[in-house]
Amino acid sequence: MTIKSIVPIKAFHDNYIWCLRNGENAVVVDPGDANPVFDYLNKEKLNLVGILITHHHPDHVGGNKTLLSKFQVPIYGPKKEKIPGITHCLEEGDQIFIKDINQNFRIIDIPGHTLGHIGYYNDKLLFCGDTLFSCGCGRLFEGTPKQMYQSLAKIAGLPDEIMIFCGHEYTEANINFALSVEPENKNLSDFQNKVKLLRDQGLPSLPVRLSQEKQTNPFLRVHKPNIARTLINNRKVSSTHPKDVFAALRKWKDYF
Ligand code: ZN
Ligand code: FE
Repeated sequence: MTIKSIVPIKAFHDNYIWCLRNGENAVVVDPGDANPVFDYLNKEKLNLVGILITHHHPDHVGGNKTLLSKFQVPIYGPKKEKIPGITHCLEEGDQIFIKDINQNFRIIDIPGHTLGHIGYYNDKLLFCGDTLFSCGCGRLFEGTPKQMYQSLAKIAGLPDEIMIFCGHEYTEANINFALSVEPENKNLSDFQNKVKLLRDQGLPSLPVRLSQEKQTNPFLRVHKPNIARTLINNRKVSSTHPKDVFAALRKWKDYF
C-alpha cells in the first residue's frame, strides 16, 4: 500500500479519519463520526473491512456503533481503554495483519494524552492519534508529562523515513507556537511557508515525515540547548533535563 492510498476523511472542525484503501476494501482509523465515512465509502464504492482506534475520546470512537450497524467489521483498539464495539484488544508488542487490505501493523503504547493510547506502525507509517501532532503534541488529559515525554521518545526512535498520520489538523497553530520557542529555526520558517501553501489550497498538512518533525517539532527537540535556554530565560525552568524542559514546554503551550 502506498502512502497515496491513505486518504483523509474530514470530520468535525479539524479531525482526520484516515482511510486505507486497497482495491474495493477500506479500513478507517479513529472514526469519530460515521456520516463522512459513509459518504466517502459510497462515493468511492468501497467496502469497510475494519476499524483501528488509537484512544477512547468521542471524536475518535463516536462513529463506531453506527458504522457497525452497516458493516460488521473487527474493531481494533487499546486494551486499557473502553472502546465501543471493540473486538481486538491491543497493547505494545502485539502485531496485527489485516488480510483484506494486506497490511501489517505493530502496536506501541504511547500514553500521555490518555492512559491507554496506542499507535499503529510499520516500516512506512505510523498512526499516532492525538499523541504527536505536526510541530506539536497532544494535551495531557490523563497522563503525566513524563509519560508523554517517553511516548514521544519512542516515536522518535522509529525510522526517520516513516510518515506520521495524526488525528488533527493543528499544524499552522502549532508552528506559531514553535516559532515563539525557536524564532531562529530556519527549518521551521521554511516549513511554515510550505504548510501555508498547502492549507491555502485546502490541502492537509499531513502526513509528515518523522525526519521533518525532528527538525521542527519543539516537543521532539527538548534536548536542544537553545530550547532549554529559552525555557530557563522565559519560563523560569531550573533544570535542563529534557524531561523537565518538556514539562515546562507543554505547560507553556497549554496557555499560549
Ligand atoms: Zn483525543
Ligand atoms: Fe482528538
